[in-house]
Amino acid sequence: MSVFRDKIQTIKGIGPKKAALFSKLGIDTIGDALKFFPRDYEYREAIKKIDSIKEEGMVSLCLEWKGTPKVKRMRRGFSITTLEGHDETGWVECIWFNQPYRAAGLKKGKKYFVYGKAVRKSFGYQLQNPVTEEYEERVHNHSSCLPVYPLTRGLTQRDVRYLTKNALEKLTAVESGFLDSYISARHDFPDRKRSFQQIHFPENDKELERARKRLAFEEFLLLQAAVQYTKSLLQKKSSGLIITVSRELLDGFIKKLPFSLTPAQTRVLDEVVSDLAGGGVMNRLIQGDVGSGKTVIAAAALYCVAKSGFQCAMMAPTEILAEQHLAALSNIMDFPGKDINLALLTGSMKESEKNTVKQKLKEGRIQILLGTHALIQDDVEFSNLGLVITDEQHRFGVRQRALLQSKGNIPHMLIMSATPIPRTLAHILHGDLDLSVIDTLPPGRIPVRTYHVDSSYRDRIYRFVKKHALQGNQTYVICPQIEESESSELRSAEQVYKELSNGCLKGIRTGLLHGRQDFAEKKAVMEEFLKGTIQVLISTTVVEVGIHVPNAVIMVVENAERFGLAQLHQLRGRVGRGSRQSYCILVSDVRDETGLARLNALVNSNDGFEIAEKDLELRGPGELYGLRQHGLPQFSAANPLKDYDLFILAKQAAEEIINTLHKEEHQAIVKEALASQDRLPAVLVVN
Ligand code: ADP
Ligand code: MG
Repeated sequence: MSVFRDKIQTIKGIGPKKAALFSKLGIDTIGDALKFFPRDYEYREAIKKIDSIKEEGMVSLCLEWKGTPKVKRMRRGFSITTLEGHDETGWVECIWFNQPYRAAGLKKGKKYFVYGKAVRKSFGYQLQNPVTEEYEERVHNHSSCLPVYPLTRGLTQRDVRYLTKNALEKLTAVESGFLDSYISARHDFPDRKRSFQQIHFPENDKELERARKRLAFEEFLLLQAAVQYTKSLLQKKSSGLIITVSRELLDGFIKKLPFSLTPAQTRVLDEVVSDLAGGGVMNRLIQGDVGSGKTVIAAAALYCVAKSGFQCAMMAPTEILAEQHLAALSNIMDFPGKDINLALLTGSMKESEKNTVKQKLKEGRIQILLGTHALIQDDVEFSNLGLVITDEQHRFGVRQRALLQSKGNIPHMLIMSATPIPRTLAHILHGDLDLSVIDTLPPGRIPVRTYHVDSSYRDRIYRFVKKHALQGNQTYVICPQIEESESSELRSAEQVYKELSNGCLKGIRTGLLHGRQDFAEKKAVMEEFLKGTIQVLISTTVVEVGIHVPNAVIMVVENAERFGLAQLHQLRGRVGRGSRQSYCILVSDVRDETGLARLNALVNSNDGFEIAEKDLELRGPGELYGLRQHGLPQFSAANPLKDYDLFILAKQAAEEIINTLHKEEHQAIVKEALASQDRLPAVLVVN
């Protein structure tokens, strides 16, 4: 696998500057480049002459430009740009919608390869939203199927194509290794090298699909081999801590709550309690929609385990949330002075404070530790860790939760997630976890009313917000970025904050919150919002997870098209937490079909599961890298929604490999699998 690890700079023509740009896309090595799969393909016909266009449809032309681009500005930031393109047989009008920059860079006196949709007009043909590239005889003068990659600023399709083409050339048959021969020997797939070639530069659809399946199978196999191997190790060490929770203890806890548990909560809590006492190691994922009441399950587990004399740790993705948990737990458990000590450990605490906590923890004088990523630092040591919990797991990598678990001698683990995913998908992604679902909300919740409006409604929306503020209700306004930038027309939190404070919302107390503020500042703003001193909070998505402010009844999301559906659903979950009718207003000028369908999914449903399914359905093939926002394992070739058969096949293959580990090849495959997953802490990888 050696070339896989070579830096891309070993390719001629890729210097430090390009390498830094590629690194932004997650590409540092030849292997990364090979696994950076196209999101789409462009099928190009051979180049035609203009006078031979006889019907509407996609065409490739070779053009020179006449005149200068004409830009017509329309309402609401829309624009239309046109430019005349000629060849020796005639001319066409090229037209771009909302992309004035596309024509601006075109040079006169040079030939261009132009590919776009020809539409018949009174004057001849018009080419809509064409792609343009400086014409190169070698590249353009034949029909072809070209890969289209996700890009970052400063890189073009041509750059990435150059990279993958050269990465493929470095790949030799020698590189294949045990895994490749294992797969080729048993299945009718093309070999690995050919698969990589075909996925980047396919001969035809059939070969492309065969290649994709081969690579998808490999991804599933590696994941399954790693998961099953780890599981077999855990079973060997299996003496899980047995923590028997008496009915009395649990009932005592439940009785102190200000509400009674829903049937779903009771069921899930029972599952947790029987895991604790069961003799194995609990590895349980609790899925429940936003607001379904997961915290109280965590609290009950923490309480029981701490009462049994073991330490517990709970990790949250933000300091605000960790603090909120501390407050909630102290409230529910009301123990200060009793036998359970709670403490907080976060990155922004003073060194001396942190050291005190760590010291006490080591000595067993703290029973429940709450915190952020600070919990998984090397120097945090427990004396007898019995339970670890990660909240909002979609914000953590699989590796981070494994690191937390490695702080003790395989403690029980609970993972809480508000990202609902379909069951078959859950099986693929979390096959190593048991699943509990909280499928009903606590009683008395009034469903949030959701609307999608375009930006012409802005004034009306903020008048509505003002009216509510005057009645004492609070509002979140979420923006996709922190500050204005030249390169984008997105609404920024700073700009919206300025506009609203000096305009529509003059006289209303507004506040600004974003990730670049230091923690003290964020905390102060959040506290003022909690107290109601701030009535309208303008923020980036730092408020996304977990925050609980029952008095907030309006959620406005600017440029809503820029957010993932799961994320929008999370954001909406910030309101509707009190007894009043709440509103979620998605502001977006999106016009394409998929974009509209996505927002409609939210307008039409309050059910996280339904939305998640819709979300996955609406992503095109190759767009599943959006899974990243859920903190789930990454697949490049596999489509976990559609390749379930392939998954089952890979799972069986992995079982066979793990059952016959005495074979050297099989050990090599497991080794590769573990290295590929980046998910297992050292303590679990025993030889
Ligand atoms: P999430 O699942 O999103 O983490 P939380 O645990 O924060 O949700 O719960 C949201 C709110 O619902 C909290 O204010 C919590 O006190 C309340 N809650 C939880 N369970 C119940 C219940 N059974 N009845 C009434 N309110 C509940
Ligand atoms: Mg929560």
